[in-house]
Amino acid sequence: MNRDIATPVRTRDILEKYGFSFKKSLGQNFLIDTNILKKIVSFAELGEESGAIEIGPGIGALTEHLARSSKKVVAFEIDQRLLPILEETLSPYSNVKIIHQDVLKADVKKVMSQEFEHIEDVMVVANLPYYVTTPIIMKLLEDHLPIRGIVCMLQKEVADRISAKPGTKDYGSLSIAVQYYTEAETVMTVPKTVFIPQPNVDSAVIRLTKRETPAVKVEDERFFFMVTKASFAQRRKTLLNNLTSQLPDGKQKKEDILTALESSGIEPSRRGETLTLEEFARLSDALYRYFH
Ligand code: SAM
Repeated sequence: MNRDIATPVRTRDILEKYGFSFKKSLGQNFLIDTNILKKIVSFAELGEESGAIEIGPGIGALTEHLARSSKKVVAFEIDQRLLPILEETLSPYSNVKIIHQDVLKADVKKVMSQEFEHIEDVMVVANLPYYVTTPIIMKLLEDHLPIRGIVCMLQKEVADRISAKPGTKDYGSLSIAVQYYTEAETVMTVPKTVFIPQPNVDSAVIRLTKRETPAVKVEDERFFFMVTKASFAQRRKTLLNNLTSQLPDGKQKKEDILTALESSGIEPSRRGETLTLEEFARLSDALYRYFH
């Protein structure tokens, strides 16, 4: 077994050798705790035949653990300065492919079909750059990738929002968007001390297991998400107020909105945070005909 990259001493040696300076703007907080890395990988439940997609390999701390536990790893890294470092640190592993690209601009589906030709089971596993956590997760879900799920480290506050249940303060349009596609659970909270440099916020690891079909069936996905976003525009406002002020021509369509609320059995005075996914689906389908 090769010497782990993610020990404080080896990490510092590598960074010093290459004169690497962290870019805060790229969310560069590297993991220096092998136990945490092993746990993250174990949550992904990879097998010898599995593939892993990593976003932001950094100097390869997590990548090498993925390489040891799976058939192949494909990692997207935006920072060119890390490429020569990764070439050295990951040289013992022949099953890793680094792609120098902003993952938000990448055609991940195409990369998957090219790189995982005979691999059926694929997980995304990452210690995400915190400045773009939500856009990355939403892109991976909205792209309808053939993956089993996502295990990732992110800000604890965002993890709480993603896995929140109706009626709680963290429940919002992000909870709904992610839970529509996946079963979401927070599997571990992580102290700041396992990173260099240490982030300003607490961290957590979440596991998102993709559903075979979305949690609820709706007439129009985009409209459903528009309705949920509108419903949480101002958390203290009632559903009726948010929908009339946020939906296109909502004010003129107040009567239609009231009718739709009534026909879906939802009190207009309720707040968005009390509605389940099923209720949002019913409401969105009832509203749909008035907005198309
Ligand atoms: N995986 C490493 C670890 O755990 O130590 C590094 C994680 S660090 C939190 C985030 C990494 O994502 C950095 O290497 C950063 O350069 C990279 N990154 C930031 N934005 C990115 C983007 N849009 N696409 C791909 N990689 C990105």
